[in-house]
Amino acid sequence: MASTVLIPPSARVSEIGKDLFAQVRRHQGSIARFNKWTQEIIEWCLSNPDVKGRLLRFVDVLPSLGTDKILTEHLRDYFSPTESRLPLALRGGSVLTRTPFTGRAVGAMTRHMAREVAKQFICGSSIDEAIDASRQMAEKNMTVTLDLLGEAVMSELESDRYQKTYLDMIGRFPAGSNFSLKLTALCPRFDPLAFEQSISGALRRLLPIIELARSKDTFICIDAEQFQFRDMTLELTRRLLAHEKAKGYPHLGLVFQAYLKDSHARLEEFIAWLRERQQPLTIRLVKGAYWDSEVAKAQSVGWPVPVWLAKESTDAQFEAMTSLLMQNRDLIRAAIATHNVRSVAYALAAHESAHFPEKSLEFQLLFGMADALKMALVEKGLPVRIYAPFGPLIPGMAYLVRRILENTSNESFLKLDMTHGANEVQLLSAPRIREPASIEPDIHTEVSIPTFHNEPPLDFSSAAVRSQFEEALTRTSAEFGRDYFPLVDGGKVEGGQPFLAQNPSHPSQLLGRVHKANSRDAERAVNIALKAQESWDAVPASRRADLLQRAADLMHQRRMKLAAWEIFETGKTWREADADVAEAIDFLRFYSTTLLDYQSASHLRQVPGEVNVSSYHGRGVAAIISPWNFPLAIVTGMASAALAGGNAALIKPSAFSSIMARHLVEVLLEAGVPTGIVAFLPGGGDDVGRYLIRHPEVDLIAFTGSKEVGLSILKDTAQISPGQTNVKKAILEMGGKNAVIVDEDADLDEALAGVLESAFGYQGQKCSACSRLILLDPIYRVFVNRLVEAVRGLRTGDPTKPQIDLGPLISSEAFRKVQGAINEGQREARLLFQGRVEPGIEKGYFIPPTLFCDAPTDGVLGKQEIFGPVLTIFRADNFEEAISLANESEFALTGGVYSRSLRHLEAAKRYLVCGNLYINRKITGASVSRQPFGGFRMSGTGTKAGGYEYLSHFMTQTVITENTLRHGFPIE
Ligand code: NAD
Repeated sequence: MASTVLIPPSARVSEIGKDLFAQVRRHQGSIARFNKWTQEIIEWCLSNPDVKGRLLRFVDVLPSLGTDKILTEHLRDYFSPTESRLPLALRGGSVLTRTPFTGRAVGAMTRHMAREVAKQFICGSSIDEAIDASRQMAEKNMTVTLDLLGEAVMSELESDRYQKTYLDMIGRFPAGSNFSLKLTALCPRFDPLAFEQSISGALRRLLPIIELARSKDTFICIDAEQFQFRDMTLELTRRLLAHEKAKGYPHLGLVFQAYLKDSHARLEEFIAWLRERQQPLTIRLVKGAYWDSEVAKAQSVGWPVPVWLAKESTDAQFEAMTSLLMQNRDLIRAAIATHNVRSVAYALAAHESAHFPEKSLEFQLLFGMADALKMALVEKGLPVRIYAPFGPLIPGMAYLVRRILENTSNESFLKLDMTHGANEVQLLSAPRIREPASIEPDIHTEVSIPTFHNEPPLDFSSAAVRSQFEEALTRTSAEFGRDYFPLVDGGKVEGGQPFLAQNPSHPSQLLGRVHKANSRDAERAVNIALKAQESWDAVPASRRADLLQRAADLMHQRRMKLAAWEIFETGKTWREADADVAEAIDFLRFYSTTLLDYQSASHLRQVPGEVNVSSYHGRGVAAIISPWNFPLAIVTGMASAALAGGNAALIKPSAFSSIMARHLVEVLLEAGVPTGIVAFLPGGGDDVGRYLIRHPEVDLIAFTGSKEVGLSILKDTAQISPGQTNVKKAILEMGGKNAVIVDEDADLDEALAGVLESAFGYQGQKCSACSRLILLDPIYRVFVNRLVEAVRGLRTGDPTKPQIDLGPLISSEAFRKVQGAINEGQREARLLFQGRVEPGIEKGYFIPPTLFCDAPTDGVLGKQEIFGPVLTIFRADNFEEAISLANESEFALTGGVYSRSLRHLEAAKRYLVCGNLYINRKITGASVSRQPFGGFRMSGTGTKAGGYEYLSHFMTQTVITENTLRHGFPIE
């Protein structure tokens, strides 16, 4: 049956389409398209893009505005009293709310308006209301599928709650009802890297739902979500269908999204799988609801965009997939979910050509939309099912915003449709796959940097990528136990005593023996570098830039192996290790391109009779002193800036990441950087490190590390040795004690995800990590409860396993230090929660995520950089207090704010003291060229790694001015 391609005659599609249009038009006369408030909102949105932006932001924040006072403050923030197109309730925030009485009236009015709009698209806020709504639909000869709107699920407890609601619903609804559910809500942190855990976690909660559904002939459909979850969803469905509790059950469904470019191929594969097992299934075909976020996500990280860029291409694939479903109608029941008359007509024509009973096809439309089309279909005797979301108002708002966006989007069929008198012939013409070459991301730079693109992270949602990474780990482990010698002038030197590089997850596992460079080696390296540097500086900038690009290419080729080494040597998780390697590649490329800009652009003003030229040169010999926590990125960043600027780079890495630094030096030499220009000098900070810093011929020190060491370096560099001819330049990037503020109107789902990542990514061993969380009083309790549950679900263990969230601390010393801070914390504050370490790995340096509260601001928890997975929670009565709490630190590195109050965001921008402020996102993970990174106060000299100006610190600038006037005439 599946072999014939079923394409209905186009004349028939048009005929059915015209007939449908006629019926739709007839019904439109008798029903309102939207309720009053929705109609108004849509009209305001269409009137002006700026109003649309503000309105949607206001709708989004509204449910979090618990009091009339805060609601009216937001009205004042978002809407101008002079905006005459808006109703008084919105623009009147500022004029009408001066007294508590009018404030209350405006609050009540605004909430009433929001409820009315919500009612348009959401069928109820409780199970009872949902039952009621489905009864009303039944009276109109329509059925429903119910979808529970929920806040993002962040913990097992929240997943349990979601499951329980579905069990309650199935129990209370009559037999034969129909529900749609989302797998991401059935398992907290549904993640392709925790593939098996996510699938089994979701399946464990799904099976009792299926069992109950089966006992009541109830239908369960698995919804499609973001692309990164697609393959997991397909796999889970396969396992479900093979499970004895679901096998053969005919009332199950799965969704396919036509906007995904490979969706047709996936559907074919899936149908073949079903056919082999003779397993019936309903497939709901949709176009896809996450187009904007899929495009934005892919563009922001540099992945291929998984969705069709042109709406017409999606429509064309929708038809092809409809045909495929019809060809397999003996096994598949199709649910065509669209509001597009052409797509509906195509399905009807294809179905007709397939000569199958009418009832084997159903149409699905969204609650509150395209009512005239629904009526037309019902009138034709076709089965119509309404996709009806229900649930509490707060999570419902995100859904509402999506619906309003859809109704006001230029691309939408709804906007083009009959109510606007669009050309029917056009609307019914056959769509084709017609893709633009690409949509260029909107890249804006303040200075003219030649084209630079960030290295995309690996896409771990691909099974092939995951298995290649696994292989890289295995291959890397075969290299353990080697000796690593210092490298001077391209050759290894014996060095001094070796120290053992150990795996912090399994300290008895020897990774390699690193032979320390001694002062003789350092002296030789300086002397060779001194001679080589002059000619390196004289090499044309384009050549230096080229070599760095070549080094970036080499790193790119071995990125998995490098990331695997990071996991073993420094205990990074898969994503963290991959991100570090990608950042190292970025640094090489970015400084290479930036250098060309420095050398080519004339930034000087010219006047007649005078020529001003500036040229840049290396400062001389640079000591690169790096930490272990970004074991490849930071050392590469500092070394590549030094090399780009025309300096020699003598690399003294942290003892805990020596093997990673050695990989960098190999890459540089292989790329063709002259041997004398780069040296690998592993060893202790106090010996070879200090030797380099104090050396009179070392002109530049690029250091990243702790405040204590940074300040001692500053002192050392101020000492002038006999014979020293240069003032040493010290570039110091030091620690942080960073705070995130969560405002009372914040999106708590986003804040929770961001805080978890900022505080516990790489075990909190990031200078940018969040170690102080400042919560506004009204959301304190609710946020803390959710945070505790979310932290409970984090997995601390051996990071070679992809599902692990937290690996070990770097060393026994770090372990003792962090444990000491936790002990001290228990004396000065309340230990709110501590997670646990996975069993069986007790010997590694593992400390599980730890939460404190009720701490003084001037104790260890409030002041000290702990550099481990320890987060202390503070409470603030108002936003001003939150800002001053955040500023109570000697550091000023990163800071974060989750808020939707425009006034508070302005205040944060103005008054929060930090080098990098992040609004409504995590505070770690600065991207090269997008977020130049670094702090001030005791966090460093503010040189901003990964920024355009960074390179200038590695060079001297000479300005040459020539008088071109000869006898009063400019001769140029
Ligand atoms: P650290 O200060 O102990 O060591 C950094 C480097 O300095 C190592 O290579 C070490 O061997 C060397 N060193 C130590 N004493 C020295 C001396 N007297 N003379 C010369 N070199 C010496 O820091 P760490 O533990 O490797 O890294 C963690 C610290 O780094 C944290 O404080 C963190 O906040 C900071 N850090 C800051 C940034 C930033 O961009 N601001 C980035 C990453 C890490």
